[in-house]
Amino acid sequence: MTDCVFCKIAQGEIPSGKAYEDDLVYAFHDIHPLRPTHILVIPKKHIASLAETTAADEPVLGRLLSVAQRLATENGSPEGFRAIINTGRIGGQEVPHLHLHIVGGATPVGPMLNKA
Ligand code: 5GP
Ligand code: ZN
Repeated sequence: MTDCVFCKIAQGEIPSGKAYEDDLVYAFHDIHPLRPTHILVIPKKHIASLAETTAADEPVLGRLLSVAQRLATENGSPEGFRAIINTGRIGGQEVPHLHLHIVGGATPVGPMLNKA
């Protein structure tokens, strides 16, 4: 997708702190990290959000999760991490290209959510 910042990152058109790449996914350090470890893992192909996926996307969805443990361990969060996929307006998604946040570090990331 031409105007998508994460497509441009995956294609190397916008610089990023690359953490990992394979045939299906690209991972890079979040520009505004919320924890010492904060990596985004994205499909290389444009998928707007988790809500736009179908069964045909199962290989890439599986890959997003299967690389998470290794990325966390290699990037300062070997004792666990949190994986987050914000989806749509209610989920607080800001960038309309599916991404998995991996957040962690040496200390616990904290409560999952604050009560609304
Ligand atoms: P969302 O709120 O959509 O789940 O998260 C989007 C994330 O993308 C945010 O944490 C934000 O800091 C990160 N982000 C947005 N633009 C860029 C960028 O150009 N480069 C990098 N590395 N991260 C970005
Ligand atoms: Zn995109």
